Amino acid sequence: MKAIRVKEFGGPEVMRLEEVADPKPGGAQVVVRIRAAGVNPVDAYMRAGTYPRKPALPYTPGTDGAGTVESLGPNADAGRFKVGERVYLAGSLTGTYAELALCEGQFVFALPAHVTFAQGAAMHVPYATAYRALFQRAHAEAGETLLVHGASGGVGIAAVQLARAAGLRVIGTVGSERGRKLVLDEGAHVVLDHSAAGHFEEALAATGGRGYDLILEMLANVNLGRDLGILAVHGRVSVVGSRGNAEITPRDMMGRDGAIIGMSLWNATPHELISIHAALGAGLENRTLRPVIGQEIPLADAGRAHSAIMAGGAYGKIVLIP
Ligand code: NAP
Repeated sequence: MKAIRVKEFGGPEVMRLEEVADPKPGGAQVVVRIRAAGVNPVDAYMRAGTYPRKPALPYTPGTDGAGTVESLGPNADAGRFKVGERVYLAGSLTGTYAELALCEGQFVFALPAHVTFAQGAAMHVPYATAYRALFQRAHAEAGETLLVHGASGGVGIAAVQLARAAGLRVIGTVGSERGRKLVLDEGAHVVLDHSAAGHFEEALAATGGRGYDLILEMLANVNLGRDLGILAVHGRVSVVGSRGNAEITPRDMMGRDGAIIGMSLWNATPHELISIHAALGAGLENRTLRPVIGQEIPLADAGRAHSAIMAGGAYGKIVLIP
């Protein structure tokens, strides 16, 4: 099969398309023929060698993908899958930037007929992160007011759809006009521009001055300090993304019984992941979850996809097509 290989950490150019051996499933494993692979910021951090988790070189990037079941290991759950069935996957053992990916059967999930492979490739990291940040970590409840700080990207759109379907009032922020229309269309009640000087004041005004029960923060190094000042009493900030240090005023939290909650999808247990994907599968079936695809890029151009995801101006997901 053809697969992207990284032999040294570095810029997007270290990703090269090469011929490698086809994976073979053992035990309860499943091989999936990848029809679309999701591109996430973490793929770029790992390729650069700047992420705390460093894969052993050489490796094939990618945790997200969707396609069809190619083959099953001898102990795979034949009741759950048949060869040729449409599936999406939550992580793989061999990397998804490839024509085939070897997966643990328990992390392969059915893809409803109305959901495209590109949309399936947008399910795991973005939607599972948004779900975990909202519900498993911050215990979001119907009736609460949520700020999705960075709503135009993969995690942000997932959070807007999940929270809207769960009965929260949703305010989203974006950095472009194109993003504003997208986030409104996907269910936000109000959309603000996070590049505008007065956007924290506007965000507070959008709650009638009461503040936010919950903030999902995509860029904590830029926003965390001021997020604390627009929390409601008992409000919490669920930190999803950060690219540096932040300064906070602890009294902003103390006075509100507020909390900053860290979250990493890597910490989800197998039980939690299976629970998350049961909820996400139901959302796909009832069409409250509709992954938005911004760009489809050929697998051979994976470097271009990594440059695009780090450039900003997000608009849905970037996926690679083998
Ligand atoms: P993405 O698709 O590239 O989207 C990035 C988002 O950040 C866009 O909505 C972008 O908006 C927004 N943004 C840019 N400047 C901002 C600002 N000043 N304030 C608030 N938001 C701003 O990335 P993603 O997949 O959604 O991931 C978002 C972040 O979460 C990344 O840092 C990623 O590494 C992290 N993440 C963490 C976990 C975890 O387990 N903790 C899992 C997945 C992702 P515009 O482009 O419209 O300006």
